[in-house]
Amino acid sequence: DVAKRGGLRVVHYEEAGDPYDPNRLSLIGDLRRAIRDDELELHYQPKIDLRTGAVAAVEALLRWQHPERGRLMPDEFLPVIEQTGMIDPLTDWVIETALAWVGQARTRHPQMRVAVNVSARNLGNADFASHVTDALARTGSDPGCLTIEITETALMADPARATASLMRLAKTGVLVSVDDFGQGQTSLSQLARLPVAEVKIDKAFVMHLDQSATDAAIVQSITDLAHRLGLEVVAEGVESQPILELLRDAGCEIAQGYHISRPMPAAVLARWLADHDVERFASAAPAPTGP
Ligand code: C2E
Ligand code: MG
Ligand code: MG
Ligand code: MG
Repeated sequence: DVAKRGGLRVVHYEEAGDPYDPNRLSLIGDLRRAIRDDELELHYQPKIDLRTGAVAAVEALLRWQHPERGRLMPDEFLPVIEQTGMIDPLTDWVIETALAWVGQARTRHPQMRVAVNVSARNLGNADFASHVTDALARTGSDPGCLTIEITETALMADPARATASLMRLAKTGVLVSVDDFGQGQTSLSQLARLPVAEVKIDKAFVMHLDQSATDAAIVQSITDLAHRLGLEVVAEGVESQPILELLRDAGCEIAQGYHISRPMPAAVLARWLADHDVERFASAAPAPTGP
């Protein structure tokens, strides 16, 4: 456990609630300036279709270039920000920035989609779906180019409210993905009732897939369940080619992880996309031909 990092005490979920924590107070104040002064940045990590090797989407991941503290990762500031109303303008910024990126990217890659992460607190806001609609309108984006990722734990914190919010979101035409799946306690009937298109298997079950029969059984069960519910399956945390092949054998459609690429700033991603060779991750078996 990292107690210090670049002079900043890492803020854990348990600690995030202490209203007198000086780090907490200064982070909240600093975030207003960060949005204004362009200190926030999105990095983008490809999601690869294991059937074709093509890029199915990229996920936007937030980074904060803090002038004194250096680069802050989401886990270092989001737990604090999520406890304040600041998470709403922050998520609006993330969605608009990601949509502006995908609009540009589509001139070269017409099928490109972008996925953004949202917090439980965003979903708890009855206006959240209209924030998304506004961002789509402001950037002139097709709703089909946006995926909203929400963790299973966030969904299950208040399932009734989350379901209502997801229903509104799904009506806007954006896709909904359940992130970090397998860590929470979602019942089958709850998952079946949610308007979701995609399940992302938590990386904890993926990272040691080639060494753990238990993890392999969990991955296969989640994949089979998701398919029976008509959902696509994404595996995150894919760090090697043997694991990628095991996921393909399990029937998982999409893979994401350091083996494919780390998250990259937009300029690096543009070069990565231009150089991407679909053969590299395509299935070795010939694609099935039509009747
Ligand atoms: P997540 O959405 O589950 O994203 C996956 C995390 O795993 C990312 O960490 C990513 O960099 C990392 N990762 C990707 N591939 C691999 C791999 O092969 N191995 C390992 N060990 N890790 C991998 P990151 O960027 O630090 O983000 C952490 C979490 O913070 C995200 O988890 C997401 O829940 C949250 N987050 C990130 N950006 C945003 C945002 O804009 N808004 C909100 N609300 N949450 C965000
Ligand atoms: Mg995610
Ligand atoms: Mg995840
Ligand atoms: Mg996560």
